[in-house]
Amino acid sequence: MEYDVIIVGSGFAGSTLARKFADDDKKVLVYEKRPQIAGNMYEETLENGIRVHKYGPHIFHTNNKQVFDFLKQYGPWYFYEHKVVGKIKNTFVPIPFNFKSIELLFNESEAKEIEQHLLKKYKGLKTISIFDLLHDSDDVIQKFGSFVYKNVFENYTAKQWSIPVSEIDQSVINRVPVVLGYDDRYFQDQYQYMPKYGYTRIFERLLEHNNISIRLSTNALEDLSIKDSKIYWKCQEFKGIIIYTGAIDELFHYQFGALPYRSLDLVFENYDMNYYQPSSVVNYPNEEDYTRITEFKYFNDQIIDHATTILKEYPKKYNVEDENCIPYYAIISEENQKKYNQYYELAQKIPNLYLCGRLAEYKYYNMDAVIARALDLYEKVGK
Ligand SMILES: Cc1cc2nc3c(=O)[nH]c(=O)nc-3n(C[C@H](O)[C@H](O)[C@H](O)COP(=O)(O)OP(=O)(O)OC[C@H]3O[C@@H](n4cnc5c(N)ncnc54)[C@H](O)[C@@H]3O)c2cc1C
Repeated sequence: MEYDVIIVGSGFAGSTLARKFADDDKKVLVYEKRPQIAGNMYEETLENGIRVHKYGPHIFHTNNKQVFDFLKQYGPWYFYEHKVVGKIKNTFVPIPFNFKSIELLFNESEAKEIEQHLLKKYKGLKTISIFDLLHDSDDVIQKFGSFVYKNVFENYTAKQWSIPVSEIDQSVINRVPVVLGYDDRYFQDQYQYMPKYGYTRIFERLLEHNNISIRLSTNALEDLSIKDSKIYWKCQEFKGIIIYTGAIDELFHYQFGALPYRSLDLVFENYDMNYYQPSSVVNYPNEEDYTRITEFKYFNDQIIDHATTILKEYPKKYNVEDENCIPYYAIISEENQKKYNQYYELAQKIPNLYLCGRLAEYKYYNMDAVIARALDLYEKVGK
C-alpha cells in the first residue's frame, strides 16, 4: 500500500496527528515500538481487576477548550478533580501547600499570623510561586517560604532529579505553586476530567479508522533511514509526510551524544484490602526513597472489594544502553538545549520531516499541551 503519511509513535502526539490526517483521507502508517498503542498513557487491567496506568499516573487537566472538545469525540470523560497529600513531618497535608496545610503544621497563632500576612501582601491572588515567598521582604512570609521550600520542594526535587535543587530550572519547581486559601485541588484548570473507560480505550477509538494501519512492536528506524537530508522508507525515497514523535537523538544515531533524561523504577504492589491510603496520590518529599505512591482505585471509581493496587515511584538515572529504561523526563538546562539544537538543525534540513511530542522536542509537555501542539502542526502541514 502507498502511504501519504508515516507516523513514528502512538502517544498523544502521534495518535492525534494520525487521526487528523486519516479524516482528511490520507493513508497513514503508524509505527509503535511497544507491543501496545497509547504511549505513556497506556492503561491495563491487572488480574485483581484493577485498571492501572502502566507508565505512571496520568491526570488530564486543561484550560484549552479546543483540546478537550477534540478528545470528547473519542469516548466519555468524567469530572475528576485531583487531590494530593504529602507526608510532611509525619502529618498528611494538602499539596499544593494551602491554608489547611499551614494549620496542620503550625500552632494556631502562628498559622493565623502567616495567613494574615499572605492575604494582606498578595490580596486578590489565588496562588503564588514559592520563589516569590522566598524573596519576600516581609519576615513572616519569607520564613514561611523557607519552611515550605525546605519541607516540600527541596528534598523532593533533589530526590526526583538527583541534582541539587539550585541547579533545576525554575519552571520545573514553579509547576506546583502555594495556594492562598483552602482550595485543595492539585490543578486549577477549567477542564479536569478522566476517561471513563481509561486512556487505552480513547486511543483505540482515535486510531480506529480505515485509513490508519498500525505496526506494533516495531521500531520505525528498522524501516526508515536518512541520507543526504532525504528520508528513505524500506530503501525507497519517501516523499510523503513523516511525523516523528520518538527521541530525536535516536533518530540521528546519537551522533552528538545521548540527551540526558530522568527515569523511574515503577513498582506495583497488590493488596487484599479496600484502600491502602487516604488519597489517590501521596507525596513523600523527605525520608522515603520513593517520591510518591498512587492508588489507582481512586481514579475511576473502581468498585472492587478487598483488592487494591498501588504504585511506588523510585527516581533513577536514565541509561540509554538499557532498553528497559524509559526516558521519562527531559532534563532542561542550557547545555542540554544546545545538544538538542544540534539535532534539531539536522532535522530542519529534511523538508518532509516534522517533529512533535515530548521526546522529539525534548520538552516537558503535559498531555493537553502535546495535543494542542499536534493540532497546531496539522493546521500547518496537513492543509
Ligand atoms: C511519570 C509521568 C507522569 C505524567 N503525568 C501526567 C499527568 O498527570 N498529566 C499530564 O497532562 N501529563 C502527564 N505526563 C506527561 C505525558 O506523559 C506526556 O504529555 C505524553 O506522554 C506526551 O505524549 P507523546 O506522544 O509526546 O509521547 P509518548 O506518550 O512518550 O509517546 C511516544 C511513543 O513513541 C513510541 N516510539 C518512540 N520511538 C519510536 C520508534 N523509533 N519506533 C516506533 N515507536 C517509537 C514510544 O514507544 C511511545 O509509545 C506525565 C509524564 C510522566 C513521565
